[in-house]
Amino acid sequence: MNCHTCSRKSIYFARYNGRHYCSTHFLDFVEGRVRKEIRRQGILAHNSTVCVAVSGGKDSMTALTLMKEFSRERRDIRLIAITVDEGITGYRSEALRLVEEYTDRIGVEWHCRSFNDEAGFTMDRLAPRERERTTCAYCGVFRRSIMNSMARDLGATRLVTGLNLDDTAQSVMMNIARGDMTRMSMMGPHERTVDGLVPRAQPLLGIPENEVLLYAIQRGIPFIRSSCPYSEEASRNLFRDIVLRLEAEMPGSRYAVIKSGMAMSEAPPSGRISRCAECGDVTSGSECRACALRTELAKVL
Ligand SMILES: [Zn+2]
Ligand SMILES: [Zn+2]
Repeated sequence: MNCHTCSRKSIYFARYNGRHYCSTHFLDFVEGRVRKEIRRQGILAHNSTVCVAVSGGKDSMTALTLMKEFSRERRDIRLIAITVDEGITGYRSEALRLVEEYTDRIGVEWHCRSFNDEAGFTMDRLAPRERERTTCAYCGVFRRSIMNSMARDLGATRLVTGLNLDDTAQSVMMNIARGDMTRMSMMGPHERTVDGLVPRAQPLLGIPENEVLLYAIQRGIPFIRSSCPYSEEASRNLFRDIVLRLEAEMPGSRYAVIKSGMAMSEAPPSGRISRCAECGDVTSGSECRACALRTELAKVL
């Protein structure tokens, strides 16, 4: 098969639009949509300070690479990479080395904070303990909380994540299945700024996961391939299957799912948004999830 645009050999077929792409036009196809998404979300507005949350995986390394390239000519933009060290020997330590080396190579300022310093525990210590929730439940809450405070302390106008089309479609389906409209309304990308919460942005929102992977490989962007040894995300895997099956039967349905999620998240949240009595972070209850889990952790550890 040949490329839809030129006559070179195709390396990729997009089922949802019926087109074949050669290597060059595949890169163009991805970059064009990312540029458009960056504009739509206003990520590179004049005088912005943009923090990119980088884990070392394919998505965040690709997001960082493109944010760097698209802001290269912009002297009014400050681009910073931030990483949270959850304290997972092997997995996270390898990623930290990679991110440090890569940010240094492409000339991006890098900051890192650890669970140990910020919350007083490591995932290595928590994982083997008897506890009420999955490892991911604790890890996700503290990771988001530390990421937000890091971005806030650095004066960020946007916190960029590497969330792709599949991740986002899965989250929409999960929120629908759980009837969690509060969480739905708090999903990124954020247009409104809530004081204390750095608005999150997702330049890869329109790019399917397999395209991000192929893009990173084609460009030679380094990334960590191993997955977290403590991952217990059973429900995430269920929704990954659901989204993939839906897309296989109805090409293009991932985009429709996201569009529905966005329409729903524009509605005001059913729960109120207030401040945590303990730390002042934005929350839907009286206490934020990180503070609630901190109390629980004191008993577990
Ligand atoms: Zn071509
Ligand atoms: Zn709190």
